[in-house]
Amino acid sequence: DNITATVTKRRVGQTDRSNVLKEYEQRLDGKELINLVVIGHVDAGKSTMMGHLLVKLKVIDERTVHKYRQEAQRLGKESFSFAFVLDESEEERKRGVTMDIAHAQFKTQTKIVNLVDAPGHKDFIPNMINGASQADVAILVVDSRKGEFETGFDFGGQTREHALLIRSLGVAQVIVAVNKMDTVNWSYERFDDIVKKLHQFLKTSGFKEQDVYYAPVSGWTGQNLIEKASEPALLDWYNNDTHQLPVGVIRYATLLELIDKLKPPERPISKPFRLCITDVFKATGVGTGTSSISGRIDSGGIEINEKILIKPSNDIAQIKSIQIENANVPSAFAGDNVVLNIIGADPAHLFIGNVACDPEYPISTATVIKGRILIFNITTPITPGCPIVFHFKSVHEQGNITKLLEELDRSSGELKKRNPRFLTKNSSALVEVKLQQRICCELYSNFKELGRFMLRQGGSTIAAGIIVDIVE
Ligand code: GDP
Repeated sequence: DNITATVTKRRVGQTDRSNVLKEYEQRLDGKELINLVVIGHVDAGKSTMMGHLLVKLKVIDERTVHKYRQEAQRLGKESFSFAFVLDESEEERKRGVTMDIAHAQFKTQTKIVNLVDAPGHKDFIPNMINGASQADVAILVVDSRKGEFETGFDFGGQTREHALLIRSLGVAQVIVAVNKMDTVNWSYERFDDIVKKLHQFLKTSGFKEQDVYYAPVSGWTGQNLIEKASEPALLDWYNNDTHQLPVGVIRYATLLELIDKLKPPERPISKPFRLCITDVFKATGVGTGTSSISGRIDSGGIEINEKILIKPSNDIAQIKSIQIENANVPSAFAGDNVVLNIIGADPAHLFIGNVACDPEYPISTATVIKGRILIFNITTPITPGCPIVFHFKSVHEQGNITKLLEELDRSSGELKKRNPRFLTKNSSALVEVKLQQRICCELYSNFKELGRFMLRQGGSTIAAGIIVDIVE
């Protein structure tokens, strides 16, 4: 009812959406929508775990699994058979590395979960940012094997970098899946040790204690994914009062139960429509003029036949159809992952990173912004003029940090020093960034979802920030 109220209110004098809201509510079937990204070091078992979960939830049927298993055997990679469910391209299968973002959907008791898989390999971090920018919540998969957890967690490992990245992208809730517990005999000591180390790290990375859960699992055997634990060595401490469990561990909880506990963020469905385009499919036929764009709706809602504005090209297009999970729907709202078939926009003007928005309330664009940044663990200090790659949603654009305006206190945000000559690791600052090309963005204060960015340099992430001013 709340949803109905806000949407109708915003649409007074514009489009009345009351007729489509029924459909929207029916589609959600009383459940809440949540976008989940799975992150972690390469080989931690992300694809295996999620693949197995989808099999258990019957999102993927036995025949398909059989097919994947045979193919895995054929390629001599049997241990990857569950991972194949998610790793779609032939190339990924051969390499056993997830490169693209695979989408799937499943349901828990109270949630519809859209799965966003993100690649863990160091070279694919930009793809990972693209995937994670669509997520509300995350599962961080860590490998419990001796030495392996440490490799991912140490400096340069992806466990740390991914956790920092998703927090900077606005993801506040995480489930840590302590995976491959079958290989350490479901050891309580090993689990406890890993949880305590991560607990400390996640706290200093800005995650609140009450927003982080931990679960011992095996993506390979399927233990503790959706059925209650049955492994005696696990039950011995996981469902037994004699062992004290670390903070964030819920006794006897399965991974699925923890996913069900996550809370979706408030959806800005009453704000103007915005969708940052994460994929473009252009029609090949001559003169058809139709294209498809996809992405997650960041704010507002849309209906079939409505006009949308594509920024920065300023093309106006009309929505011919809306698809969610391959089904046609008459409308879609913030949080939905959609494919829009549109007509009227010049296909040559459509790019990943463009934004489709409400023509009456277009998104801002910028070449120079002021941002409040948090600097990561860098080795060389940042000086004025330093070149960076600006990552914003699915855009990455070359630019420079043109001015160091203020150094700020990391926790209070108060001014420490005006015009510092350089900025060192773990500090916070107000800086000016100039980009080589115009991008679409918003002030963080107006649209949280569209006001965050990331700065990278030479293949590593040096800072995360929010847009506080658009200068040009
Ligand atoms: P990703 O790179 O994080 O997606 O990792 P994959 O899912 O591709 O898994 C990497 C390797 O670890 C594969 O050989 C898997 O079979 C293996 N693996 C994944 N999960 C488990 C687990 O729970 N137990 C064991 N023993 N092996 C696992």
